[in-house]
Amino acid sequence: MAEKNLIVIALGGNALQQKGEKGSFEEQYNNVKQTSKKIADLIERGYKVVITHGNGPQVGSTMLRHDAGKKLYDLPPYPMDACGAETQGMIGYMICQALRNELKSRHIDKYVVSIVTRDIVDENDPAFKNPSKPVGPFYTKEEADKYKQQFPDFVYKEDAGRGWRRVVPSPDPKIVAERLAIKTLIDAGFIVVANGGGGIPVVEIDGITKGVDAVIDKDLGGQRLATLLGASKFIILTDVDAAALNYNTPQQQKLGRITVEKMKEYYDQGHFKAGSMGPKVLASIRFVESGGEESIIAQLSQLSEAIEGKVGTHIITPRG
Ligand code: ADP
Ligand code: MG
Repeated sequence: MAEKNLIVIALGGNALQQKGEKGSFEEQYNNVKQTSKKIADLIERGYKVVITHGNGPQVGSTMLRHDAGKKLYDLPPYPMDACGAETQGMIGYMICQALRNELKSRHIDKYVVSIVTRDIVDENDPAFKNPSKPVGPFYTKEEADKYKQQFPDFVYKEDAGRGWRRVVPSPDPKIVAERLAIKTLIDAGFIVVANGGGGIPVVEIDGITKGVDAVIDKDLGGQRLATLLGASKFIILTDVDAAALNYNTPQQQKLGRITVEKMKEYYDQGHFKAGSMGPKVLASIRFVESGGEESIIAQLSQLSEAIEGKVGTHIITPRG
């Protein structure tokens, strides 16, 4: 079932915004141009590529813009699912344009298309009862109380001494709603950008889907996409060159080739932080356990070397 040359690449935050940058469109577009060169190298070598990406800083900024619009012009802010859709469109546009231009300059006759993608989550996911992910602007206690009156369903929590923030659930993605359209486009030869920001979270009740206020983890969403498409490799690109044991301690030990069983042991021992390396490792375990050939965690700048097996953490089956 796995398609030999099909790879799903998950781009981390550093593909769009580098440390110290404010996140202007120009900064982000320049970063995407650099990223596109790395991806084009693989396309040139014959890989069929599907791209997914994070949207944390972008969706936070979008929510701030809605918040400012409310204060300045009494414009009604959009719900979080709609904000997620806005960022999928904006980031998808950047990738489509930069990658297509890069391919054209190399005389590669391939086109890039971005799909607004929804992920179905379980309405009974325990995450809905325990919103934990802080998003959007910081408020004073008084502002948070005022918003709470305006939106009684929202939950606000104090965030590490920095102010009050809305917290939202981060449910587990189950199914990528647009999978058939994505597959059709891949089979027709398009390079597809999909499931950005982990996918727009929707619940399905009596056959009707409805957006929910939540943020899906992009690595967990990317795994669902990679598995549903039957990709042979799932590659998570980030700002460190490997997953490590005892991270950031004198005993730190970077992981290279490792079986999924061993990785599960380390995961259970708590080596990988929740909200950063944790979901990457969990997504990798799920991908390989669902029949994928290997999952790779590597640095964005080393994509080609990682595919060749020279660098990065490679999670494999004992047979692999
Ligand atoms: P991305 O935007 O690529 O998803 P994240 O910040 O979510 O980036 O995850 C990458 C970060 O995970 C690294 O910068 C590193 O600080 C952190 N991290 C946490 N635990 C580990 C670990 N065990 N090994 C390597 N990196 C880790
Ligand atoms: Mg992350």
